[in-house]
Formats: sequence, structure tokens, C-alpha cells
Amino acid sequence: MLKVNGVDVSYGDTQVLFDVSLDIQTGELVAVIGANGAGKTTLLRTISGLLKPKVGSISFQDDTISSRPPHHIVGDGIIQVPEGRLLFPNMSVLENLRLGAYLVKDKALIDERLHSVYSLFPILEERAGQMAGTLSGGEQQMVAIGRGLMAGPKLLMMDEPSLGLSPKLVQQVFKLVSRINEEMGVTVLLVEQNVRHSCEICSRAFVLENGRVVLHGPGREMLENDHVRRAYLGL
Ligand code: ATP
Repeated sequence: MLKVNGVDVSYGDTQVLFDVSLDIQTGELVAVIGANGAGKTTLLRTISGLLKPKVGSISFQDDTISSRPPHHIVGDGIIQVPEGRLLFPNMSVLENLRLGAYLVKDKALIDERLHSVYSLFPILEERAGQMAGTLSGGEQQMVAIGRGLMAGPKLLMMDEPSLGLSPKLVQQVFKLVSRINEEMGVTVLLVEQNVRHSCEICSRAFVLENGRVVLHGPGREMLENDHVRRAYLGL
């Protein structure tokens, strides 16, 4: 479904991604794991079209997208849930969710998507009229993910959804990411620093270090890998 072919990405003269390649098949949940500053967000911003690769290309459903503007890429169905959630704090939960479907004209389709977001996150239906800025961190993350789902993604890219959440909520978020993939059939690219949880739920993981993919393979195998165990799991 998505193929990233040997991309180099720079901010001005500073190169951040080096010859990065990865692929995602339809229906998969793939994780990109790595420490702070490894280049994970830069990779997502490049797939979204906000940054252009200097070298290499990206294709989605067999079309090259790396030269297309971001709004076309959103229109193709690649939706990013940004790090830090980026909600509109003074708008209600419902208004924030509806913004995710701003490209959709069909009212019945919007209602249908809202219904499926509410069945995934029942608390959001209870809080529909509440200002998003007054929700807990975990609830705000649900709104951010729900807003992404309202766009009807073919590929949902999530940037560190567990960041800043308590250990209990972290577990819940990973369960939800897994349900979005398994029950809703959405293809997911998950970017995370939480290596253990990501590798437990993903089909395959790519390890990004200093802008390079140094290792990839099935999530469960990554958890047994000596380098991953030493560098990321403290074992
Ligand atoms: P984090 O988990 O901290 O978000 P990350 O793996 O997502 O890390 P990136 O945000 O992609 O990493 O950053 C990769 C590198 O690019 C870092 O060294 C960072 O300082 C640098 N960088 C990020 N954004 C910019 C920018 N706008 N201009 C210059 N350098 C940047």
C-alpha cells in the first residue's frame, strides 16, 4: 500500500533521514520505533507531503506521492494524528471531531463515522459538548485519534500517541490502536518510543536510529533481538 524508497530528507543543510526505506501492506499495523530525535516525526511529515525528500520517492497504492502537495495526500486517504494532539482547546469535542471530516460532504457518512468513533470511545459521546481543552490527557488523545478516523483514513499515521500519558492509559491507548487496526480494518503506521508495547501489537517494526533504519522484522522477533533488548528495553 505504502512504499518509502530510499529517502534522504534535510532541514536546510542538516540531513535528518538517510536512505530510509519501508513498506506497509494493506491491513497491516507497522511500527517505526526509535529514541528522541531519531527522525520519526520527520518521516511522517515527509509521507504527509509537508517535507520533500531530496533523494528517493514515496508511493501510495502504486502512485508516486512524494511530489504532491499535502492536501492531495490527505485526499488520497493518508491521515496523520500529530504528536501533542493539536486539538482546538476552546472548541467542543464534537466540533473537534467534525473537523476531521471537513472534506466530506455526505452528512449521513459523517454521522456514520461519528457513530463508529463513539462506539470506540464511549466517553467522547458523554463529553461531546465539553471544551476539548478541559479533557484529561488520555481523553484528548482519544479526540485526536477520533478526529483522524473521521477523515475515513486508508492509512492512519499516529505520532507517539502514548506520549505524556500515565502507565495505565498507555496500555489503554495501545489496546485502542490495536482495535482500530483489527476491528475497523484501518491500516496503521505507528511511530513510538515505547518499544515494548509497539512491538507487542504490530505485525512488523522498523527501528530508526540517527535517521537510518538499522533493523526491521516482525514485532515479536524485535522483542527477542539482542540490540533492541539492550538499547530499548534495558535488558
Ligand atoms: P521526538 O520523539 O523527539 O519527536 P523524532 O524521532 O520524532 O523525535 P524528529 O522530530 O524527526 O525526531 O527530529 C529529528 C532531527 O531533526 C532532530 O535532530 C531534530 O533536532 C531535527 N529537526 C526537527 N525539526 C527540525 C526543524 N524544523 N529544523 C531543523 N531541524 C529539525
